[in-house]
Amino acid sequence: AVDELEEAKTCPVTVAVHVRPLLGEERSAESSNANTLRCSRAQATQAGTQVDAADRLVVLGGKHLFEFDYVYGSEHEVQGRDPKSMFSDCVKPLVHGVFNGYSATVLAYGQTGSGKTFTMGGLSNNAQEARCWGDEGNEDTSSSESQSQQRGIIPRAVDELYSRLGSLSEDQEVCLRVSYVEIYNEEIRDLLADSSRGRGAAGGGSGSWRVPSDAKEIQIRESADGQVHLVGCTETEVTSKAHMAALFQKGVKLRSTSRTGMNKQSSRSHAIFTICVDTTTKTKAAGADVAAEAEGEGQQGGIERLRAKINLVDLAGSERVKRTLAEGSTFREGVSINKGLLALGNVISALATDQQGQQSAAVTASSDAESASHVPYRDSKLTRILRDALGGNSKTVMIACVSPFDLDCDESVNTLRYAQRAR
Ligand code: ADP
Ligand code: MG
Repeated sequence: AVDELEEAKTCPVTVAVHVRPLLGEERSAESSNANTLRCSRAQATQAGTQVDAADRLVVLGGKHLFEFDYVYGSEHEVQGRDPKSMFSDCVKPLVHGVFNGYSATVLAYGQTGSGKTFTMGGLSNNAQEARCWGDEGNEDTSSSESQSQQRGIIPRAVDELYSRLGSLSEDQEVCLRVSYVEIYNEEIRDLLADSSRGRGAAGGGSGSWRVPSDAKEIQIRESADGQVHLVGCTETEVTSKAHMAALFQKGVKLRSTSRTGMNKQSSRSHAIFTICVDTTTKTKAAGADVAAEAEGEGQQGGIERLRAKINLVDLAGSERVKRTLAEGSTFREGVSINKGLLALGNVISALATDQQGQQSAAVTASSDAESASHVPYRDSKLTRILRDALGGNSKTVMIACVSPFDLDCDESVNTLRYAQRAR
């Protein structure tokens, strides 16, 4: 019973904060600002952001204090852990878990411009692409250090997956599949769809985002064992690391080019890159009831099948609707994006507080209908899609991205409040 209590106390959600450096114009604005934000405690009491030595606390605007699992800063502006260790601290264990049947979700949350896409590794210009997918052999050489330390989470996760694949035992086989979708205005778009379809979307003319009319609407289905399937969505079997990188980049490009000059809109969509991992292990006939359910037919042959997925999510900008509110469709956008983030906040906060539900979901492995009844997954497409890798046995990491710029302080407080609910 004591063990159970201990277990119940471990939070299913890890929350990290990533404070990006000041960007060019901000830097000059800051230097002419009396309330300039720096790392010293004295100044932190007036304005700006500060991270304490334990790398867990953030002080914002001198009066808001938050504690998280990890806080990553940058050399010049804000103290904190080195962002280089973010992947190994937060995500690497999740990648390993996938081979043991544990699903996971990594979420980048924050206002537009706070570094979500940068953190995930989804920026689309060529320099960034080279940075992300460049030769990882350079990783520890000092000449390329400043670049490699900034590689995003997705390229690193892919590297890690493939290095694990290389160390599997002979009786294990792994099949990897990926999908990449975007949710905008509660509509799901396939970012790996054939280019003809993609162009259809790009030709959307007036600028309003729409699913191309020749594309089937994507449906979210849940199978009896609780797995989420996106019906009508491309799911590609991956043949190599380079193939996976290419698929990701294809989606990144589609996401950004189909709405040329419309950064506002892309910042209001959620992008979900999902890697599904099927592991097959030949077992000696005896050990039938292993951790995960083996799929029916396989069992007699002494084959254990595990399926898990990892969702890598670049969430829509969290800034308040008020701030960007305009007439007509813009208003609608703001509202529906909030719907996803609102539902996600509620789900994660329910998971973090409802340890009881967490536990029973873990025990009943496949059907979590009962325990999940008060976790409001159904309130948005985002949470419905993430459902089978959020809660239950799954691990979740939320990376709250914040800007250290004074003028962003209010939004940063909102971001940290949201993230705090997850703990
Ligand atoms: P978001 O996706 O949250 O809107 P981006 O990831 O696009 O924000 O980041 C906004 C800008 O800030 C980009 O130009 C990006 O290159 C830069 N940036 C973000 N995070 C960092 C960082 N940690 N280090 C350096 N530049 C960053
Ligand atoms: Mg972005």
